[in-house]
Amino acid sequence: MTPAQSTALRALPAVSTLIAAPEITSAGSGLDSEVITRVVRREIERTRLRLLAGDIDAGARLRSAIIGQLRLISGNESNHVINATGVIIQTNLGRAAVSEAAAAAMRDAAATQLALETELEHGQRGGRGSEVEALLRVLTGAESALVVNNNAAAVLLTLMATSSGRQVVVSRGEAVEIGGGFRIPDVLRQSGAELVEVGTTNRTYVADYAAAINDQTAALLKVHASNFAIVGFTTTPTLQELSDLAHERGVLALEDAGSGCLLDTTVYGITHEPMIAESVSAGVDVICASGDKLLGGPQAGIIIGRRDLVAVIARHPLARALRSDKVTLAGVAATLRHYARGEAPECIPVWWSIAREPQWLRERVERWRDQLGGRGDVVATDAVVGGGTLPGRTLPSFALAFDGGEGGADKLARTLRVGTPHVVPRVDHQRVLVDARTVLPRQDAPLLEALQSAFAIA
Ligand SMILES: *Cc1c(COP(=O)(O)O)cnc(C)c1O
Repeated sequence: MTPAQSTALRALPAVSTLIAAPEITSAGSGLDSEVITRVVRREIERTRLRLLAGDIDAGARLRSAIIGQLRLISGNESNHVINATGVIIQTNLGRAAVSEAAAAAMRDAAATQLALETELEHGQRGGRGSEVEALLRVLTGAESALVVNNNAAAVLLTLMATSSGRQVVVSRGEAVEIGGGFRIPDVLRQSGAELVEVGTTNRTYVADYAAAINDQTAALLKVHASNFAIVGFTTTPTLQELSDLAHERGVLALEDAGSGCLLDTTVYGITHEPMIAESVSAGVDVICASGDKLLGGPQAGIIIGRRDLVAVIARHPLARALRSDKVTLAGVAATLRHYARGEAPECIPVWWSIAREPQWLRERVERWRDQLGGRGDVVATDAVVGGGTLPGRTLPSFALAFDGGEGGADKLARTLRVGTPHVVPRVDHQRVLVDARTVLPRQDAPLLEALQSAFAIA
C-alpha cells in the first residue's frame, strides 16, 4: 500500500458520521434506518476496495454514491420526464405513454382480482385476453388474437410454433436489425427455423419468393423494415401478392408488422404507415405487432390472424413463458377501446401528438414564451414519429428555442434534464429546443415551472 492510499483510507468517514449528514438523511427519508446503514456500509466498502485498487480519488465520490443509491431505493426522486425532444415514440424514454383511461385500468387491474380465467356466467374456466381478442377482431377483421410480452416475443413464438425445423423465406432487404439486438436472422435461428434470403437489398420480386419455395418451406415472412428505409430504385411485392403466392403453394404468409398501426396516418399529412387491417384483408395468416408503438398502449406483443394458427401458437409450450399479465391485458383493452369509440386521436397520447395542427402548436409555444416573460424564440421544427415507424418522415412542429448562455446549450439541456420535473429537450445548432408536439396536454404547467427554475440556476 502506498502512503497516499493509507492516507486516503484513514480519511474515509465513519458510518455514524455519514448517517448523520443532512444530505444523506434527506436522500434516504422514508427508509428504515437499518436499510440506510446497510447502504452506507456497502458504499464505504466499495470505496475501500477502489482505493486499494489504486483509484486514489474514490473517497471524494463516496457521499454522492450513497446519495444516488438512497434516492434510487427510497423513490424520493422521480424518473418521470417531460418529453420535449420532438420524437413522439422515444424508445429511450419508454416509448408510448398510455392514455389516462388505460393507466387507470392498469391500476385497477393491479389492485384487484379479476375474472381473468373464469367465465362469470357459468363459473367455468375461460380464456384470458378474451376482451382484447374481441376488440382486435372487430378493429382489424382478424379471426383471433393473442397478447404476449412484446413484439420480439410475438415474432419468436409465431416462428417457433409454425416454422421450427423448416424454412422461412425473407427478402434480403428485410433481414434487418430493428435495434436493441432484435435481428431478424438471429430471431429465425433461435426459433429453430432456417432463414432463406431472396432477392437483393433493394429489389425483390414475387418470382424470387416463388423460386425459393420447396417442400421444406413453412412460410414467407414479410418484415416491416422499421427504422430503416431504402429509397429510390426499389421493388417489393405487395402483401396481397405475397399471400396469394403463399396460399397457391400451400405455405403460410407471416408478417412482422412492427408498429401496430390502426389508424390512417395520411389523414395527418404523413406517409401511409401499413395498417394491421390491411394485412388481414390481404390474407396474411399471422401478423405480429408491438403494443407500445403506434398502437399507443403498454408494452405488449400482439399476434393476430387465422383462428387455427393462433390456437397452435397459444398451445406452444413457451406461450406461457411469454404471455402478458393481467395489468398489460387491461391496458391493451382500454387502449383498443379508444379506437372502438372513435376517440383515439384525442385520448391516446401518441395520436394526440400526431394529430396536433402546426398552428395550434405555434400558439402553444407563443403562450409558453409569454408566460416566461418573453424568454426564448418561437421556431419552426421537424418532429418525428419515431419508435421505428415512418423513417425519415417529419411532422411540422414548433419549439421554444433558447441560447445556452454562458455554459452553452449542452449545459442548459443538462440542467433541464436533471431539474424538477425532468425535461428532455433537443439540442440543435447550439440551441436548446423545447418541442411542443411531444409535450402532453397536462404538462404545460410543470414544463414552465421546470424552465423557470433552470433559468434561475443558469
Ligand atoms: C419494434 C419492432 C420489433 C420489436 O418489437 P418490441 O415490441 O420492441 O419487442 C420487431 N419487429 C419490428 C418490425 C419492429 O418494428
